[in-house]
Amino acid sequence: MRSGIAALRGIGDHVGVCCAQFRVAVSARVDGEAPPPEVPDAVLDAHLLECPECRRWGERARRLRELAAGLDGP
Ligand SMILES: [Zn+2]
Repeated sequence: MRSGIAALRGIGDHVGVCCAQFRVAVSARVDGEAPPPEVPDAVLDAHLLECPECRRWGERARRLRELAAGLDGP
């Protein structure tokens, strides 16, 4: 019962922010907005270095944004 949650806690312990919050910060960065106060740039960069899933998620978000921009523009 407790093993799954304990494992998840162990991974994120040194940062104290879960991937969902990092993805909010990534999407803010892609949009050119300021990052949320609990996820400053340096913390986000450090997480992206060690979390391939968030890195991939960020690349996809950027590509989607470029696609959307392409559709909007001439
Ligand atoms: Zn992550």
